Amino acid sequence: MTYHDWFTQHAAKHRDIVSRLEHLSDEEVIAYFRYDNMVEHEPDFCPLYAKGTRCHEMEDLNCYLCACPHFRFRDEGIGVEEGAVVKSICAIDAPGGSQSKHAEVIHHNCSGCTIPHTDRYIRRHFDRDWGKIMRECEV
Ligand code: SF4
Repeated sequence: MTYHDWFTQHAAKHRDIVSRLEHLSDEEVIAYFRYDNMVEHEPDFCPLYAKGTRCHEMEDLNCYLCACPHFRFRDEGIGVEEGAVVKSICAIDAPGGSQSKHAEVIHHNCSGCTIPHTDRYIRRHFDRDWGKIMRECEV
């Protein structure tokens, strides 16, 4: 599956969940997307739920802004660095991010960054239209 395909499917899943939460306030919607609640009520949202694992070990991990609106990915490549094709980058060059190189392909590694997973960050960028947040954070 390409990143574009995953992104499109993920957007549809996000839209479906949010459409079922119309009766909740914005703050309640944000709370709904906390990891523990999502594992229980939305087991198909993320493949890690079924494995009992999570992308980041942090308190109150919130899944509302997965994928991160600052993540940029192009299957055909964004550029070339030292002979390797760069397929993904962080648009804000967040300090927790890093690069990982495998077989002449460089991917951005977000495992050390928790920026989009905090309630505070999500409140600041909140919109029930997830795609709109993604578009507004594009640079
Ligand atoms: S490093 Fe952090 S801010 Fe940058 S794309 Fe990854 S999760 Fe988002």
